[in-house]
Amino acid sequence: MSRLALVTGGSRGIGRAISLSLAGQGYTVAVNYRSRPGPADEVVERIGEAGGSAAAFRADVSRADDVARLLSQVEDRFGRPTILVNNAGTTDDNLLLRMEEAAWDRLLEINLKSVYLCSKAVLRGMLRERWGRIVSIASVSGLVGNPGQTNYAASKAGVIAFSKSLSREVGSRGVTVNAVAPGFVLTELTSGLPDSFLEQVRSTTSLRRIGRAEEIASAVAFLVSDGASYITGQVLVVDGGLVL
Ligand code: NAP
Repeated sequence: MSRLALVTGGSRGIGRAISLSLAGQGYTVAVNYRSRPGPADEVVERIGEAGGSAAAFRADVSRADDVARLLSQVEDRFGRPTILVNNAGTTDDNLLLRMEEAAWDRLLEINLKSVYLCSKAVLRGMLRERWGRIVSIASVSGLVGNPGQTNYAASKAGVIAFSKSLSREVGSRGVTVNAVAPGFVLTELTSGLPDSFLEQVRSTTSLRRIGRAEEIASAVAFLVSDGASYITGQVLVVDGGLVL
């Protein structure tokens, strides 16, 4: 039986690349999405055409009842996931003085509370198996900050601290917990950024280019593999040398 990976927000952008990459490595993939079934179905179809196994599951991972339902549907279909990729996330940029409390709360729910909810929901199964992998997608913003992103940077720094703390709780039971911190990757999330900003990112990135979603996915695929069995509590920065 192949190992089962749950990828939150696995239908578009970086999550899509992670779903395809893990399926390519032979894992069964539960592709979670929040609102748009089209891209999720397309990912599942592509995996099926390549001979892999996957299904799409709709759930807002920032909501406890949705996460409970998601896990029970995934279990009914495939069994218990022993790999979780906490990828779902969003931005809601604003200067702090203009940032409304409700917008702050919602961003933290989507980017950070979801990581708590999903990790907690899968953990018991992993502890029972005495094997598990949790990888959460953070951001270089969570390491060095970014103007206009106090909410986003705080959520991603929270993801990193969460991962380090949980890695200490569960390491003795064979579960590793790591974070991947991407730099800039062109997805719908970043499609609204002005060209001048992207040019500035390019010129300050050692590799002089924006990243590809597949380049984040390959870091995730490594961290969930047996080859990464002695790596836990770490943040793997995948940013072309933007933040040093
Ligand atoms: P994206 O293209 O906007 O895709 C977001 C995905 O997450 C979609 O599949 C979306 O599903 C899903 N999603 C959003 N909110 C959700 C929720 N509450 N519950 C379940 N699914 C939800 O984003 P991306 O650029 O690939 O970003 C993926 C992750 O990488 C995020 O955590 C982001 O913060 C991080 N990251 C991105 C970059 C970058 O440059 N792109 C850099 C650093 C970190 P629907 O389509 O159904 O809404």
